[in-house]
Amino acid sequence: MRKIVIIGGGVAGLSAGIYARLAGYDAEIYEKHFVPGGNLTGWQRGEYHIDNCIHWLTGTNENSSLHQMWVDLGVLGDGVGILQGNSLFTCDRDGVRVCLPPSLPELREGMLRVSPEDKAEINRFCNAIELVMAADNIAGEGCDEGVSIGRVLRGAFPILKYLGLTTSQLARRFKSTALQSFITGFWGDDFGAFALIFVFATYCGRNGALPEGGSLKTAKRLAERFESLGGRLYLNREAVKVNLEGGRAVSVSFSDGSVASGDYIILTTDTAVTFGKLLDVPMPKKLRKHYDNPKLRRFSAYHAAFSCDLAELPFEGDLIFDVPKEYVDTLGTKQLILREFSHEPSYAPEAKNILQTLTFCFDEDCVDFIRLRNENKEAYNLKKQHLAGILQMLIEEHCPTLKGRLSLIDFWTPASYERFIGSEVGSFMSFAIPESFIPIPLDCAVDGVKNLFIATQWQQSPGGLPVAASQGKAAIEKIKKLEKKK
Ligand SMILES: Cc1cc2nc3c(=O)[nH]c(=O)nc-3n(C[C@H](O)[C@H](O)[C@H](O)COP(=O)(O)OP(=O)(O)OC[C@H]3O[C@@H](n4cnc5c(N)ncnc54)[C@H](O)[C@@H]3O)c2cc1C
Repeated sequence: MRKIVIIGGGVAGLSAGIYARLAGYDAEIYEKHFVPGGNLTGWQRGEYHIDNCIHWLTGTNENSSLHQMWVDLGVLGDGVGILQGNSLFTCDRDGVRVCLPPSLPELREGMLRVSPEDKAEINRFCNAIELVMAADNIAGEGCDEGVSIGRVLRGAFPILKYLGLTTSQLARRFKSTALQSFITGFWGDDFGAFALIFVFATYCGRNGALPEGGSLKTAKRLAERFESLGGRLYLNREAVKVNLEGGRAVSVSFSDGSVASGDYIILTTDTAVTFGKLLDVPMPKKLRKHYDNPKLRRFSAYHAAFSCDLAELPFEGDLIFDVPKEYVDTLGTKQLILREFSHEPSYAPEAKNILQTLTFCFDEDCVDFIRLRNENKEAYNLKKQHLAGILQMLIEEHCPTLKGRLSLIDFWTPASYERFIGSEVGSFMSFAIPESFIPIPLDCAVDGVKNLFIATQWQQSPGGLPVAASQGKAAIEKIKKLEKKK
């Protein structure tokens, strides 16, 4: 039996391992941490569980193109509950709350209710969403309708008009400030409006719900699926070098001195680890071009988690509200994203809750966190405390029923991701999608090494779980083709 050695036990690695076993290959995964999942993870702080990944799992609708992959991987199906939130997020601005259910007619009606004078723009936006949904078989009342390729092509023109726009440019087309905030709320000002249409299509097609149990449990399901198929998962094994001989990867060396060899090697580590540390071979040209493209920005985030001593919260899911001007520079954001987890009762003791903030930051701000942590840990900790204090105050001001009810239980930053995953700037996804950019997946081959492939979210912006899992699958497809040719 041909053997595949996979480095990294994140989603891409576990997916590669599962598809390797399904295709009849011997498969071993080596993961540097004590827990599999990589960025798909969560952890315990006392009685509270911090879920640090899935906001939306694209592919929860059975009719969508991604669903079967998640079933193959053991993430969905087999009795796994799917939790559909009542809104993509709730957005507050100027005393108006925008909180719209996951259906296209209700999205359209809700937006029209907020701002009837934006009717033409709302209809254009919703029609574009509908067409994207139809192209993925998730349109219609039951979210199970598709359309022919001809219809998609005919309708493509209005959608392509969004390609050259950023979210802030799209937002400015709406007169209502509440709708403007709804458009830029989660992704900020510079995200591609074209990509935003896909996000809303996912949401309206009930195709971006949550798998029951959350992120850590989903990671465990993937690992269990791999092992139940006969794959071997080795934890606490950090790869340090891929050994090359005559244009082939012959083995991988680990920090404990051990070595693993196989017929094929798949590297699913972050590309900063793969091409910076493990592999003495240049990054594939197309990927290098992405890194060198100033429009393709890398991002990370800092987060605070608060225990909340209150059973009834004033919002559900994610709440987005404006940061007062005097705090925008310090926090590095104009809008605050606050998430609650009442859909998972085991995350907090009875009659209590856990709340988490998510603040995106881009290259330079991420590097500041990382540098500060490396150079002056005390100053880094003080900065975390300072930010947490402001965040708590703003949350309590915006939601007065939470006043005196919150206690900080954790705070993590781009420096945490950089240490955990090894990614530069603490990235936990791939490049943010700018305007005028169509994210075409990059090949998994590495020039000059015939039997080695990469499988990582960096092969397609903006990364995320479906990209990571699809790339794991694609690497195995590539190996199957090579084997067939022999
Ligand atoms: C806060 C947050 C929210 C997110 N929300 C969503 C969401 O709602 N929907 C979505 O689709 N995605 C979301 N993501 C993104 C998603 O988690 C990632 O895109 C995905 O997990 C990336 O998987 P990966 O396997 O490509 O990479 P990674 O997760 O980076 O996996 C790489 C693995 O390699 C291991 N490794 C590194 N170096 C070595 C070494 N030397 N030897 C052995 N192993 C090594 C790492 O420990 C890691 O386990 C979110 C992520 C975060 C952090």
